[in-house]
Amino acid sequence: MSLPGNYEQKSQPTCYCCFRIIRWIPVVFIVAVIFWSYFAYVVQLCFLSITSVAEKVILLLLYHFFFTMFVWSYYQTIFTSIGTVPPKFRIPSSEVEKLNRADSEEAQKRILEAFARQLPVVSRTVTGGVRYCEKCQHVKPDRCHHCSVCGTCILKMDHHCPWVGNCIGYTNYKFFILFLGYALTYCLYVALSSLPYFLQFWQGELEGGVGRFHIVFLFFIAAMFAVSLASLFFYHLYLVTHNRTTLEAFRPAIFQGSGPDKNGFSLGRYSNFQEVFGDQKILWFVPVFTSFGDGLEYPIQVQHQRTHQSTSYASIGETTSTSSEATSNPLLPSNSSSLIETCTKDSAIHV
Ligand SMILES: [Zn+2]
Ligand SMILES: [Zn+2]
Repeated sequence: MSLPGNYEQKSQPTCYCCFRIIRWIPVVFIVAVIFWSYFAYVVQLCFLSITSVAEKVILLLLYHFFFTMFVWSYYQTIFTSIGTVPPKFRIPSSEVEKLNRADSEEAQKRILEAFARQLPVVSRTVTGGVRYCEKCQHVKPDRCHHCSVCGTCILKMDHHCPWVGNCIGYTNYKFFILFLGYALTYCLYVALSSLPYFLQFWQGELEGGVGRFHIVFLFFIAAMFAVSLASLFFYHLYLVTHNRTTLEAFRPAIFQGSGPDKNGFSLGRYSNFQEVFGDQKILWFVPVFTSFGDGLEYPIQVQHQRTHQSTSYASIGETTSTSSEATSNPLLPSNSSSLIETCTKDSAIHV
C-alpha cells in the first residue's frame, strides 16, 4: 500500500542511475559502523568481557530493544518513497509553450495564476507569483521544493540527507526524527554501559587480548556520535513544535496577499507535533506512518487564508474547543484558539 504523497515517478537517465549508486556510499558506511558496533558490544563486551550472567542478560535485552528501534526507524527513513507532486499540478505542454513565449515576467505570472486558480496553493514567490518548477514543469504545492540531488520536487521538503541516501520530506519526516532519537538513545546507552569497562582498560584491569580495543573504540565512537546526534535531534524537535521545515527556518514561506511568515503553518505546539506524529499516542514512538494530511495542503494561520479554501485534515480538529473563532475555521485544529494572538504579535515582525 502506498503512502499519501506518493505519486507517479519519472523515468531517469542512465547517468542519474550511476549517481544513485554513489549516493549509497554514506549509507553503506553507517551500516558498516552499526554492524561493527553490534559485534563490539554483543561479542566483545557482553560475551567475552562481562562475567556476571545477570548483568549480561539485562544489558543484552536493553541493547537489543534500542538496536531494533534504531535500525527500524533508519530503514524506514531510507526506504520510504519520497512524496512527489501529483499530475493535476503539471502544466500542459500548450501552457508551457505560452510560458516560454511570454514576453514579460508579468505575462508569465498571469498564465501561472490562471492555471493555479483551482489548485490548493497559498504560498507565493518573492515577487508574488505562483511557485513553478521549470525542471518538473508543474506548479509547486505549498512547502514543496525541488531537490537537485533527487532530481524531482519533494512534498514538504526538509532537506536532502546523504546519511540516509534520501530526501527528508512529508512521507518520512516522522521516521527521520525517530531515527535521530533512537540513534541518540542507542549511542548514549552503548557509551554509558561500556564506560566501566573503558575505565578498566585504562587501569590495566580489562582482560581479553586485542579484542579489548573494540570496547575502547566502541566507547569513543558512541560518545562522538551522541554529541553530534543530540544537537540535530533537539533542533528538529524545535522545528516540529514550531511547524517549520529546515528550508523554512532559513527562508520563511511567503503567503498570497500577506507576505512571508515563519509561523504561517504553526497551529500551536501540540497540534504541530500531532501534524507529524499523529493523534494516536501509542504510535508516536513507533516508526509507522501516522502524519496528517496528503502532503499537498496544510492548515495555515487565519490571516493567510484565501476565501475559497475549504479543505482540512480529517483528524486534526477532533479535540474539544471553546473558541468560536477556531471552530469556524476548518483549516485549524480546535485547540489553536491562541493563534489569533500569536499572529498579531508575529505580523509586527514583518511590517
Ligand atoms: Zn521540480
Ligand atoms: Zn533529495
